[in-house]
Amino acid sequence: MSLRIRPDLATVPAYVPGKTFPGAVKLASNEIIEGPLPSVQQAIVDAVSGLNRYPDNGMVELTERLAQSLGVSTEEIQTGCGSVSLCQNMITVTSGVGDEVLFGWRSFETYPLATRIVGATPVQIPLTDELVYDLRAMAAAITDRTRLIFVCNANNPTGTVVEAEELLWFLRQVPADIPVILDEAYVEYMRPTDAQRYDAMDLRRRFPNLVVLRTFSKAYGLAGLRVGYAVADPQVIDALRRVHVPFSVSTVAQRAAIASLDAGAELLERTDTVVAERTRVRDELVALGYRVPPSQSNFVWVPLGESTADFATACVAAGVIVRPFAGDGVRVTVTDKSENDTFLDFARDWASGTD
Ligand code: PMP
Repeated sequence: MSLRIRPDLATVPAYVPGKTFPGAVKLASNEIIEGPLPSVQQAIVDAVSGLNRYPDNGMVELTERLAQSLGVSTEEIQTGCGSVSLCQNMITVTSGVGDEVLFGWRSFETYPLATRIVGATPVQIPLTDELVYDLRAMAAAITDRTRLIFVCNANNPTGTVVEAEELLWFLRQVPADIPVILDEAYVEYMRPTDAQRYDAMDLRRRFPNLVVLRTFSKAYGLAGLRVGYAVADPQVIDALRRVHVPFSVSTVAQRAAIASLDAGAELLERTDTVVAERTRVRDELVALGYRVPPSQSNFVWVPLGESTADFATACVAAGVIVRPFAGDGVRVTVTDKSENDTFLDFARDWASGTD
């Protein structure tokens, strides 16, 4: 007998993370290569003896620390079990069956999946020819059923960013009662040109419907602990707190996130290496004939069309795991010189047809 599970869920694909194997160079999930700093490891160890207790559900200290460092009030911050949970919760608090969630495509895979989980309709607006979010086309696609908008900047998986003027223009077009999520998971890797530079906290103050989403998973190197946060109007934060899965940010995660903020300067220095490497990796790929857009994140996008699956399979056979998006391209995390060179060696062989 089939159980009463919502039948519409049968058509929603499960999120499938890339597989890995011992000895592989893993360039599939935009992680950093370094483990937590000793001070962060110590905070984790110190938290262990208190694990008989539930975590602080209000995440008070972490929220205060974030508020302080961002120059906002604690009522404007909600942390969650990875920023992915905040994406999901924003969809939950805004959208239901028949509603539309608008975002660019290709972009972060969670947007369409989480939209479909609540029975809402993903409205996916193709990126421009330069693989940048097409904010003009997105503004034109807003309807009276639009309930939530995502702008992923830098965009996953292309690494591209919008111009600041365009973003400002877009925010002015969006009706004031529709929340716009500015997903800045990779913000620490951004080295914007003057035309790309904006102050997210200033925009947040000017546009009460703007929700800024960030994470400790990427530059802060805590992907395994699951901590992200939203900065938004207290109305939005209040709604997010109502749907927060109780205790879902563990004590260890909270302590490690706080220790990471303490070590912020040291951690953020590491991004310079990745930024320098991403320029080198892109330049080499472009010289080999790949059409790689400039990236402002810790990965590059290699458009490969129909060769995507073959490229990814051959790459894995060469010991390097990249993230394929069927029929479109592969996303390759940029880490240190040695790992990047292993990928570049493969890309060179593939380009010359020797693979
Ligand atoms: N947003 C974007 C654009 C991402 O790429 C990711 C991670 N792949 C997330 C959000 C979620 O990150 P986390 O849940 O680890 O905070």
